[in-house]
Amino acid sequence: MSQQLVDRQDQDFVIWEQINCAEILSHKKYREFNPKTCSLIINEARALAIKELLPLLAEGDTEGVRFENGAVKVPQGFHRVFELIKEGEWNNLSVPAEMGGQGAPTFLGAATAEYFLGANWPLFCYATMGNGTANMIQLYGTPEQKETYVRKLTSAEWGGTMLLTESEAGSDVGALSTTAIKNPDGSYTLSGNKIFITNGEHDLAENIIHPVLARIEGDPPGTKGISIFIVPKFLVDKTGSLNKRNDIVCTGVEEKHGIHASATCSMTLGSKGECIGYLLGKEREGMKIMFNMINGARMSTGLQAMTYASSAYLLAVNYARERIQGRDLENFADHSAPSVPIIKHPDVRRNLMWMKSYVDGMRSFFYYMTATVTRGNIAEKEEDRERHTDLFSMLTPVVKDYMAIRGHEVCIQAIQIFGGAGYTKDYLVEQYARDCKITSIFEGTSGIQALDMLGRKLGTKKGTVFMNFLGEIQKTISRAKEIERTKSLAVKMEAATNRLGEVALHLGKKAMSAEFKVAFAHSLPFLHVIGDVIMAWMLLWRATVAATKLSQKSKKKELAFYEGQIRTAEFFLNTELEATMGKMNAITGDCAAAIHISDEGFGGI
Ligand SMILES: Cc1cc2nc3c(=O)[nH]c(=O)nc-3n(C[C@H](O)[C@H](O)[C@H](O)COP(=O)(O)OP(=O)(O)OC[C@H]3O[C@@H](n4cnc5c(N)ncnc54)[C@H](O)[C@@H]3O)c2cc1C
Repeated sequence: MSQQLVDRQDQDFVIWEQINCAEILSHKKYREFNPKTCSLIINEARALAIKELLPLLAEGDTEGVRFENGAVKVPQGFHRVFELIKEGEWNNLSVPAEMGGQGAPTFLGAATAEYFLGANWPLFCYATMGNGTANMIQLYGTPEQKETYVRKLTSAEWGGTMLLTESEAGSDVGALSTTAIKNPDGSYTLSGNKIFITNGEHDLAENIIHPVLARIEGDPPGTKGISIFIVPKFLVDKTGSLNKRNDIVCTGVEEKHGIHASATCSMTLGSKGECIGYLLGKEREGMKIMFNMINGARMSTGLQAMTYASSAYLLAVNYARERIQGRDLENFADHSAPSVPIIKHPDVRRNLMWMKSYVDGMRSFFYYMTATVTRGNIAEKEEDRERHTDLFSMLTPVVKDYMAIRGHEVCIQAIQIFGGAGYTKDYLVEQYARDCKITSIFEGTSGIQALDMLGRKLGTKKGTVFMNFLGEIQKTISRAKEIERTKSLAVKMEAATNRLGEVALHLGKKAMSAEFKVAFAHSLPFLHVIGDVIMAWMLLWRATVAATKLSQKSKKKELAFYEGQIRTAEFFLNTELEATMGKMNAITGDCAAAIHISDEGFGGI
């Protein structure tokens, strides 16, 4: 059974037919790219991912990382393929040219990353994490800092990280206790302990540049008093050469549920009192600056979950075509009837349809978001720039958490399709499910995304951004109403969209009332019904495109694909979206039990 990672026909459909990324390519900024070159680049990425990265996925899981005397060794096979990623410059495809990247549009970076992440997220992450570090330095660094670090990071010659978490400062980053004291030469001496640092130490790069959140002595408590520092593993001299080893060391790596090949490090800064850091940007602007990296990482996390789901789904559907078990329901009483592939069983079909609808919906949503951010960046009119960037920012927590949760659920259902074999290590679905769980935890847990959505994003610009978002959905509804095959689906979509508007208004008001805690007890279900409605929107949009294509002449393979789009929308809008309507009723029902129950009432005492 071959592993596909991504359904290429579906990816092409989304990029070119649904989201119309060709329009983005017509901008002068992307004149080196056209649909044909993009297609060739995606082919190359796919070949490298399947041939070189994927074979190391299970191996990396078994071998894990090794911690020896302060050094971390990645799985042996990673070294050669890491070099191949660097040689092909796959690590910086969408990084702007002025930062040493290749300046491809974000959607193309995402298209290739779909393959690399599904093939081996830990390995690809070692090669790409420096881009986020570099981006912050590019935006806020001094000319000297940019010159010293940016290109080394985007070329993956040096690794990058992000150091926020401490044992007493997880979700509440403002509680951190790492301190910084200014030195006479303008640098700072840092001391503190960070935990759970991805790629904090490893043997794939000669240097690692750590952006570290810390509080300058005397600065106020909470997030307002946090600054950000560049802390290199090896200090760099004026010529750019590596100098003395800095006093930042890895003191251990975590044993984890999944992503075993990714180094999750405990880091001690200043055990000898000699950890040197350089202020990035201004004092006390650390959180604002770090959010540039966090927001990018939140998008990547959504993509990570989606690619696991896509890979797991494709394994499951192919297994269902091959695994022979049981008679067809229509021959149930006939013992002489042949056994059939399990894809023939109604419950297996329902499960596959369920998985497909989420994988398809998430893929469309992700490319919609990449197109939105790009359209914001290249917009000529300020009002267009603002509309796109506001929408992108408001929906980032949905990409992050909804895709994490649904991506993980798809992986779990893929195990179910494999039956007992799915629970063993014989197939990758088991690993995908374990690896995927982290996506709802790091880069801000589900609870933190929900808090962001209800507490901040919903009220952006007095709710007008949310209203514009509903207006975007309405455009698809209007189109769907004009097409015979999607007319009735459009009616359902409209009802759900209107209901979402009511729920948002209701919850937004409640969040500002004396009963605000009740509102926040419903904040995650609220984020998830937004996600459900977006899935329905994306699937209806796909169906309208497919119905139009079907009315033209299509080849046999295209016919099945386009029909599949309409069936998937029918399934989702008539089943899952019905449940969403119920979930929305539950939110406006204002059940306060979770707030009113006493702590002791939870039991276990
Ligand atoms: C594999 C891995 C890699 C990581 N990589 C990095 C990294 O590279 N850099 C880095 O800095 N950190 C990293 N982290 C840390 C990660 O970001 C934190 O684990 C995460 O933010 C949660 O913090 P915590 O573990 O302290 O949980 P806590 O903050 O203790 O949260 C526990 C639970 O309480 C909930 N909760 C807490 N506060 C609130 C609130 N105000 N409202 C609602 N719910 C709340 C959370 O949602 C969660 O369910 C990594 C973690 C792991 C496991």
